[in-house]
Amino acid sequence: MGSTTLLPRFVACLLVLGSTIPFSANAHAKTIKVVATTTDIAYLFEAIGNSQVEVRTLAKGYQDPHYLEAKPSYIARMRDADLLGYVGLELEVGWLPLLVEGARNSRLGAGGQGNVPLSVGIEIRDVPAGEVDRSKGDLHPLGNPHYWLDPRNQIIMAETIATALALTDPDHREDYSANLAEFRTRLRSAIDRWEEEMAPFRGRKIVCYHTQWEYLTDWMGLEIVDYVENRPGIPPSPRHLHELKQRIVGEHIPLILMSNFFETGSVEKIAKSTGAILVVAPASIKGEDSITDPVKLFDHLVESITAALSDGDTP
Ligand SMILES: [Zn+2]
Repeated sequence: MGSTTLLPRFVACLLVLGSTIPFSANAHAKTIKVVATTTDIAYLFEAIGNSQVEVRTLAKGYQDPHYLEAKPSYIARMRDADLLGYVGLELEVGWLPLLVEGARNSRLGAGGQGNVPLSVGIEIRDVPAGEVDRSKGDLHPLGNPHYWLDPRNQIIMAETIATALALTDPDHREDYSANLAEFRTRLRSAIDRWEEEMAPFRGRKIVCYHTQWEYLTDWMGLEIVDYVENRPGIPPSPRHLHELKQRIVGEHIPLILMSNFFETGSVEKIAKSTGAILVVAPASIKGEDSITDPVKLFDHLVESITAALSDGDTP
């Protein structure tokens, strides 16, 4: 008898709880919805935003960010986003504007409050002087967009993100600056270590596949003497490949560096015929499963490059 009278009260109690919990949780912590075009940007938003952000990433770390298929699911992800973090300098020009337009979210468009280009404050390399000649490759008309490959630039990107988060959510301003300080300390001590490891190799010459490693090699003190892709985004001519092989042999270039989102077949042949070591490396976080943060990314790059250069020394 007693249980029949208790039960409805218990059920009523559950109903009340069930309906109030989501409301109170929402009122307490309104998470900032972020869309990041790349895994590197997504990582930084998560590191600085921590529990205040929910980050959705578009390009996978092993995908070529120059050419991403603009899927309808990406538009859905952007519809209710508060912030859009992207590389800029037209890296994503082939697909991102379509998504922004499709999402009809005015915050994310150019000049919108949620539009966060991560190139702000970074010294951009290779800005073309004068008019851009599309026949010379049209991938980097505003300068080289691969700036996240210098770990010092990752700190500037994290600063931009901390500023954007604080503007969107001033209540947590102090959390964001504390997280930024922690990230800065962590990266700076790793940078010191990498610079020590690279020191014996400063001034060494290498060949790269695409114009994307200049920020990295400048920081490392390596000299890129030539590219497999002599016009960014355009397949090399047989004549260029022939001259490149002669140069690699003639100047004893020990290393060809390329990103793992390109087809390696033709470059493997060049390496084989010249004796250079081909390093196929991830250019972003999650470019390989084990690369889950910037320290692991640059650990991997420094290790594979120094290993190849050391091997190249032995006759
Ligand atoms: Zn590029």
